Amino acid sequence: MIIADQHTHSTFSTDGISTLEEMVKGAIEKGIEILCVTEHMDFDNHYYLLPSFCEEFPGLSQAQCQTLFMCDTDAYCDASFSLKDKYRSQIDLRFGIELGLRPDLDFSYSDYVKKYPFDFVIGSTHEVEGIDPYYKEFLKGRDAVSAYRVYFQNEILNAKACIDSFDVFGHIDYALRYHVPEGYVFNYSDFSDEIDTLLKILIDAGKGIELNTGGFKYFKTEPNPRIPIIRRYRELGGEIITVGSDAHSSTAIAGNFGKAADILKECGFKYYSVFKNRTPKSYLL
Ligand SMILES: [Zn+2]
Ligand SMILES: [Zn+2]
Repeated sequence: MIIADQHTHSTFSTDGISTLEEMVKGAIEKGIEILCVTEHMDFDNHYYLLPSFCEEFPGLSQAQCQTLFMCDTDAYCDASFSLKDKYRSQIDLRFGIELGLRPDLDFSYSDYVKKYPFDFVIGSTHEVEGIDPYYKEFLKGRDAVSAYRVYFQNEILNAKACIDSFDVFGHIDYALRYHVPEGYVFNYSDFSDEIDTLLKILIDAGKGIELNTGGFKYFKTEPNPRIPIIRRYRELGGEIITVGSDAHSSTAIAGNFGKAADILKECGFKYYSVFKNRTPKSYLL
């Protein structure tokens, strides 16, 4: 059994549903030994300008929307360390963050991650050309494969620019989660140049990827990233892989972790990684 969930959000993230303490209690109920909460921190996002983003947050000014996905990290840090103490005998609560990467944010993020005692930092791509692929505007004016290719190309730029700021690269095929044309079938070969390049950058820098079981909600039988990407990371020599549910509520913690373990073994992994003080430790699958 995988004992650590390392991608979760509480109400310190704008889209979180459960409080941090509810997340801790939920993880204890599920029998998880290590919970790493990774709140959203998207510096200076541009996707707040999208009409569909504003519709989701009615009544807020543009200035308020602009900072929605920025975490109040001082408050989050205080709450996290106090709950870590309170529940010490029942669970190991770890302090993480999920950065919304962008090439021009390299220095902002490298300063930011040095300021706080993070156990674990996920680097994710939530914005491409000013658009979060969560919103329908992402596909506007282009076919899906072209849009997904642009996403992977942006991940390469983000990985290169922000390589010092994160430990693992989040949900590599996030762009394929939300707006997928009827009948679309993912073909690794459509994106092999981009994804191979990205994976090699990560491996050369000693960075990991994650298996994000949130993907099962959208792909049914596969996590994020899809299985061929996980297998390719291993084939290229990648060893650091974390497992996270991307739970935004306490009930979703550790979702599909049994399937995750099976997939990792099928892809050639013997271990998964768990981070503490920004350092990975291997656990047998
Ligand atoms: Zn994310
Ligand atoms: Zn997330």
